[in-house]
Amino acid sequence: MTDTKITQIYTQAQITERVAEMGKEISKAYTPDEPLLAICVIKGAVLFYADLVKAIRDRDVRFGFVAASSYYSASGDRMRSTGTVNMKYSSVDESEIKGAEVLIIEDIIDTGRTLKALKEYFYEKGAKVVRIATLLNKPDCRVVDVEPDYNAFTITGNPYIIGYGLDNAQQYRNLDGVYKIN
Ligand code: 5GP
Repeated sequence: MTDTKITQIYTQAQITERVAEMGKEISKAYTPDEPLLAICVIKGAVLFYADLVKAIRDRDVRFGFVAASSYYSASGDRMRSTGTVNMKYSSVDESEIKGAEVLIIEDIIDTGRTLKALKEYFYEKGAKVVRIATLLNKPDCRVVDVEPDYNAFTITGNPYIIGYGLDNAQQYRNLDGVYKIN
């Protein structure tokens, strides 16, 4: 481990409280008797996903796992998202997506490129509805137009966040709270 200085910004108890509230909200939003396809964006969302799916009640929740990044194309001096997603891994068949009510569960929305592209991907594959739940939202960093339907915490500015699934060069994912690197 390196001796990087980190400061806790949310404790496990605060996360647990917000996750329980989000679970209740999500349980009400989806059609009763229809399965909910809960998509975990690995690796960062794994711990949040595990807690959130347990907080969703009275629904048949199906699991799906994806690893994705958005494509970037150079345009002048700026990198622009093409809106297409580079799906590095997906456990979900097209037949599972068609007609499904999808909830994409992500660790953090920064520029928004990844989630915008992922949302479009699931709609293109025939999902009936695609919603987004994120642990953290950094609205000041947004480059493309996408907003979470459910968000545990909003972070102002652009601190680098680690813990509770989020990494810095693959370190710190197992911390039980959310921290920022000083
Ligand atoms: P976006 O496409 O919204 O720019 O990127 C989202 C992804 O960037 C997240 O899933 C996450 O992997 C990474 N990311 C953005 N901000 C942070 C941060 O503050 N900390 C960490 N660990 N990853 C971040």
